Amino acid sequence: MSIAVTILGNSSAKPTATSHPSAQVVNINEQYFLVDAGEGVQRRMARCGISPLKLRAVFISHLHGDHLYGLFPLLSTLGLYGRRTPLRIYAPRPFGEMLECFLRLCESNLPYTPEWIEVDTTKHRIIFENDTTEVWSLPLRHRVPTSGFLFRQKEPPINVSKFAIERYGLSLAQIVAAKRGEDITLDSGEIVANEKITYRPYASLSYAYCSDTNYSARLAKMVEGVDMLYHEATYEAKERKIAKERGHATTADAAKVAKMAGAGRLLIGHFSSRYKDLQPLLDESREIFPTTDIAREGETFLIEPKRQRL
Ligand SMILES: [Zn+2]
Ligand SMILES: [Zn+2]
Repeated sequence: MSIAVTILGNSSAKPTATSHPSAQVVNINEQYFLVDAGEGVQRRMARCGISPLKLRAVFISHLHGDHLYGLFPLLSTLGLYGRRTPLRIYAPRPFGEMLECFLRLCESNLPYTPEWIEVDTTKHRIIFENDTTEVWSLPLRHRVPTSGFLFRQKEPPINVSKFAIERYGLSLAQIVAAKRGEDITLDSGEIVANEKITYRPYASLSYAYCSDTNYSARLAKMVEGVDMLYHEATYEAKERKIAKERGHATTADAAKVAKMAGAGRLLIGHFSSRYKDLQPLLDESREIFPTTDIAREGETFLIEPKRQRL
């Protein structure tokens, strides 16, 4: 029940010989979500051993090329692989126009349907939900309408401990009632509080993807308590002015958001091509938020559950 985040690309718009633009795969309970799709995303997935056929849905933060230009070739390839199930693509307006042109002019015979779900970049709300997982939009502050994404496992149902069943001699009906969260009245008349006999098998985990954006205190509030935060850090701390003008963040901005949010750990990425050595950027961020890592391409970052007792 962990969350695994595989970084396919971590650079900003200008291509370099050694890095790729934004893209990552978030695996939650074996559900694979592609988050942004910069150029080369298919080859990056192949290199990381992730089959595109596993993709459950795609989330596009905004329509700048370094987050999008890899998507259309991927959609074509899924057709070659014979995908049949529809693929939902969550993206801001006017992505639907681009998709419509692509399907009409380039791929009128795909064996599956790519479906566009519009993301309102001004709202913080649930945009995807199933039995185990929910995804929230995160309004970001960029030059064009942009949304980050907060992935959250739902709380698992509580279990009744074997120890409590034996100790109190609980009947099946009492166990079922305890699983519903009720206190239990024993034959002796003693009432046993629900939290004394139940536990949650694992803690629900969360991951937030925030790129591209200016520093935002509001964002910190929206991702409060997140287990792992990916926040762009296009520039080093001294380039605060340039970052602000271009709708981006610095290492210090990212670290401040992580600190304010009380995040478990921070990944920084979306680096400007001017930085050949990323260590100074990491050092800057760690000064403010020690549990920072570089979102290195090809690496998978795991968020592990901790067993919890109520
Ligand atoms: Zn970008
Ligand atoms: Zn952008």
